[in-house]
Formats: sequence, structure tokens, C-alpha cells
Amino acid sequence: MKSVCVFCGSNSGAIADFAGAARLLGKLLAGRQITLVYGGSSFGLMGELARAVIEEGGEVIGVTPSFLLEKEKPLGGLVDLRVVSSMHERKALMESLSDGFLALPGGLGTLEEFFEIVTWAQLGMHRKPCGILNVCNYYGKLIEFLDAAVEKQFIKPQYRKLIIVEKEPDTLLNHLEKYQPPKVDKLLNQKKT
Ligand code: AMP
Repeated sequence: MKSVCVFCGSNSGAIADFAGAARLLGKLLAGRQITLVYGGSSFGLMGELARAVIEEGGEVIGVTPSFLLEKEKPLGGLVDLRVVSSMHERKALMESLSDGFLALPGGLGTLEEFFEIVTWAQLGMHRKPCGILNVCNYYGKLIEFLDAAVEKQFIKPQYRKLIIVEKEPDTLLNHLEKYQPPKVDKLLNQKKT
């Protein structure tokens, strides 16, 4: 695995453990020589993560839409800053640059970006691993919801397994590195109504 895209909060959250986990993940990525692909911001967990990768000698690629560039200065020290014209283009480029995807704690932006990437996996548009770093059980209720959606038959068990959940970044990266994609047949397996 040469690169991982991380979606995370543009804020740092209520407790210091979130920033601590972002920095630890950044350090581990640099140590494994995995390039970080992310949104390019210097704010919040995004900034904590990217700065940690750079401080440890790792490589970071920022992908940002031009309208955000007008509002803020991107983080210094990036090996590359890709400026795109829309959020849609940004996500597509992030997908093509990355061998796997992670969500750290974050808000609406993080959730939207991560779940779109998971739905692309469900549709067989990519076969790359998707993981959640469940720092301090931040995503506990979301994971309960996903399991309830399986029980209620809106998510098939094999698609629920597309989302790897771990609380330790090192363990999560190990899972991503040895990931074997499941067979996906979302479009071929629709019940006729
Ligand atoms: P949120 O989880 O709502 O804080 O949103 C975080 C996500 O939205 C990130 O993954 C970014 O893609 C995007 N985002 C939000 N704020 C910024 C920003 N200031 N600079 C770049 N991207 C941002």
C-alpha cells in the first residue's frame, strides 16, 4: 500500500485524544512510507495529521477545491497540492490517488466523504479497503446503526464487511495492508419488484 486517503474533522473535537490519535496515525504512515492523501487544510484534525506525517519525514498530497484555497492558506510542506474545481472532482481525484481510505473522527464532511467512497466499493467501482479509526468510541453509535441496518436488511452483511473498524491506528493499518476485497454483486443481485 503506497498511499492512504484520510478523511477527518476540520475541527479538533472536544477532547485531546482525537488530535493525539491523528498525530499517531501520521507518524505511523510516515514510518510505513505510506503517502497521505487528504483535503489540504491546516485546520483541526486534518492539520494535526498532515503536520505529523511531514514532521516524521513522510509525504503528503493535498487535494483542494479552488474555492477553499481562496479562504485559507494550505498547509506548507506538502509534496503536491492538487487544486480542482469542485468537491466532486476532489473526491474522484482522491480516490484515484489512493490505495485505501480511512475516517478519523469528524463531522458531516468526513461522514459524507467516507460513505461515498464505501458506496463506490459496494458498487465495485474500486476494490480498495475502507477503515474507521474508532478513537474513544467516537463512532460507536454509528457502528451500532450499521449493524442494525444489516439486521433490518437494508445493508447486506457482505457490504457491512467493507468497513473495517479498529481503535488502534497500527492495527487498522495492518488490516488495510492485508485486505482482500470481497466479491460485490450489488447491481446484479437486485430482487425484481
Ligand atoms: P468536517 O468533518 O465537517 O469537519 O469536514 C471535514 C472534511 O470536509 C474534510 O475531509 C475536507 O475534505 C472538508 N473540509 C472541511 N473544511 C475544510 C477546509 N478548511 N479545508 C479543506 N477541506 C475542508
